[in-house]
Amino acid sequence: MDLNNVFKNNKKWIKNKLAIDSNYFEELGKGQNPELLYIGCSDSRVTAEELMGAQPGEVFVHRNIANMVSGIDLNAMSVVEYAVTHLKVNHVVVCGHYACGGVKAAMQSADLGLLNPWLRYIRDVYRLHKDELNKIEDDNERYDRLVDLNVQEQCVNLIKTAAVQKAYRDRGLKVHGWVFDIKTGNLIDLKIDFEHILADIMEIYHLD
Ligand SMILES: [Zn+2]
Repeated sequence: MDLNNVFKNNKKWIKNKLAIDSNYFEELGKGQNPELLYIGCSDSRVTAEELMGAQPGEVFVHRNIANMVSGIDLNAMSVVEYAVTHLKVNHVVVCGHYACGGVKAAMQSADLGLLNPWLRYIRDVYRLHKDELNKIEDDNERYDRLVDLNVQEQCVNLIKTAAVQKAYRDRGLKVHGWVFDIKTGNLIDLKIDFEHILADIMEIYHLD
């Protein structure tokens, strides 16, 4: 990617948009009403909108290393609060991806400095599912499974928030867990049983 081309590309993009709809930017400037909050990995290969075929205005996006949803991450929690309570999205997606560098780093014993506390959350997922994961002999298979389980646990973390619990009760908000298979381009729905998980964890995490 040549940075000298960025502004040239931008002008080309404006021209293309206006050719289809001369009011495009006027409409875009009026506000947003996204249906979906997407929480994904910062990995440069996993572009949120492009892989879903979504247009500007359709998806509220939050990305961090290994698509984590931590209750003490003010950034992620603010995004969830704003998207769910104020923009009133009807769906929240956690999207992981195979060949995730963050998940791989958490599977190895290495001191990665400032990254340690972040990766510790993924190590916690490993610990929670240690029995299942340790039974998988093939390293790559175990790695892929940890990606799936990490998505599942981040969905659970979403369900622990007051914003998600309230929106579920008031208007049937849904939480989804997806994985992007980087080697084939396929987006896979893990079909996480949101209602079952919700019922299961409510005994402990119910907030109102
Ligand atoms: Zn990743």
